[in-house]
Amino acid sequence: MTVRQQAHTPEDISPSTRRLLGPGPSNVHPRVLQAMAKPLLGHLDPEFLEILNGVQRALRQLFSTQNRFTLPLSATGSAGMEACLVNLLEADDRVVIGVNGVFGGRMADVAARAGAKVTRVEAEWGLPLDEEAMVAAIRSEMPKVVAFVHAETSTGVCQDPQAIASAAREAGALVVLDCVTSLAGIPVELDRWGIDAAYSGSQKCLSCSPGLSPVSFSERALHAVATRSTPVQSWYLDVGLLDGYYGGERVYHHTAPISAIYGLAEGLALVSEEGMEKRAGRHREAAAHLIESLAPLGFSPLVPPEHRLPMLTTLRLPESVAKQGEANVRRNLLQRHGIEVGSGLGTLAGQVWRVGLMGENARPESVDALRKALESELSSDH
Ligand SMILES: *Cc1c(COP(=O)(O)O)cnc(C)c1O
Repeated sequence: MTVRQQAHTPEDISPSTRRLLGPGPSNVHPRVLQAMAKPLLGHLDPEFLEILNGVQRALRQLFSTQNRFTLPLSATGSAGMEACLVNLLEADDRVVIGVNGVFGGRMADVAARAGAKVTRVEAEWGLPLDEEAMVAAIRSEMPKVVAFVHAETSTGVCQDPQAIASAAREAGALVVLDCVTSLAGIPVELDRWGIDAAYSGSQKCLSCSPGLSPVSFSERALHAVATRSTPVQSWYLDVGLLDGYYGGERVYHHTAPISAIYGLAEGLALVSEEGMEKRAGRHREAAAHLIESLAPLGFSPLVPPEHRLPMLTTLRLPESVAKQGEANVRRNLLQRHGIEVGSGLGTLAGQVWRVGLMGENARPESVDALRKALESELSSDH
C-alpha cells in the first residue's frame, strides 16, 4: 500500500532535529523561530512597516551600500537572481557571465530565457574565474551586463569581485553579483566594489528560514530599468512595481510574507549584535577546524587555500567512504546521527562532499559532531 490510510493532522508534523551541514539551509537560531511565531500583522499595518524599515536598513548595512532599493524579495535566492537579470536585460542585450559552477550556469540559463545574448566565460570547477578571460570577454563584447558569483556553493570557491567589476564598469556595463552564500559569512561591500545589482538568500549564512532573497539595486541599475524599451517580462519581479511597496509609498503589490520577515529581522539583529568582523572570523575558524579534524580520516579540500570559502568546504572523499558508497555514508550520517552534508554536483558528483558551516552552524560543535559521526561510520567494525 502506497496510499496513506490517514489524512495528515498537524500532530503528524514532527520533524527530527538535524544538524544541517550541507549547502543550505542552515540551522536557525531559536530566537528566529520565536520571532516567526509572533502574531501576524497586515502588510500595510504601520507596526509592520516599521519592522520592514528596520530590515531594509539592516540589509543596507550588511551589503555595505547606500542603495535605497534594498529589500527582502518574497522568494528564494533563485528569484533574486532572476529579478536582477530580467530587470536589467532585454531581448538581444549582451551579457557576459562567469561560469565555474552550478550557479553561474543557472545565471546563464536565466539570462538566455530572458532573450539576452549570453557569452559564458567558463572556468574549471574548483577554481575561480580567470580574471583575464573575463576582462577580455568584457572588452570584446561590450555587454550591457556582467554577472558572476561571489561564493560558488557548488564548488566552495570564493571569487574576488574587484577586478572584474571594475573592468565591467570601465566598459559601461552593469555588474550583477550573486551573494547568496557570501552574505553574513564573509564581508560583502557592494558600493566599494561597484556592484549594481546583488541578491542573497535567507537560509544560508543568515541562518533564517528559506523563502526570502535580500536584493539591492544601485541608482544606475534602477535608471537602466526605468529606461527600458520594453516592460519587464515578469510582473512579480518588476523592480518598478516592487518599489511601489518597498519604496516610500507602501502601496500594495503582493502580500509580504510577514512571519518570514519577522524571522529575518531577528536574524539580522543577531548578525549586528555579533558584528560582521567577528562573524566572519568565526566562519574562518570553523572551516580551519573542519579541515584539520577530517584530515586524519583522509578527507582533503578540493579548492586551493587562497580561493577557499569558509562557509562551504568541498572535500575529496577518502577510500573508506568510496568503499561503502558515498551516498550510503551520507544516508547513515543523516539517519543514525542526524547530520546532513551535501553531495558533489555536476562534474564533482560522487567525488566530493560539500560541508556547509553557515551562520549558526559555523561553530566547533558542528565539526566535532561530524567528526565523531564519521569516525563511527568509517571504523572497521561497520
Ligand atoms: C543556494 C544558492 C542559490 C539559489 O538559492 P535558492 O534559495 O536555493 O533559490 C543561488 N546562488 C548560490 C550561490 C547559492 O548558493
